[in-house]
Amino acid sequence: MRNIGLRCPHCSILPRAVKSRPMSALMKEITYMCQNPECGFCFVARLEIARTLSISSISKPGVDVPLSQHINWSAIQQLS
Ligand SMILES: [Zn+2]
Repeated sequence: MRNIGLRCPHCSILPRAVKSRPMSALMKEITYMCQNPECGFCFVARLEIARTLSISSISKPGVDVPLSQHINWSAIQQLS
């Protein structure tokens, strides 16, 4: 698995993602292991879809992502 920019908070080395588990359609938990053998820190991080910047043209019922305050409202009005 790839690292998504997180660094070990103890030694600043890039950790390796070793496992992920979906928690919902919008969030997953990822288990990371620091690659520094002198550190050994292992932790779980959460990756969550937080805000909508552009609305999907094939939106799925039940998927409700809050709208960003930076959304392009004129583009949304053209869709409705
Ligand atoms: Zn570390």
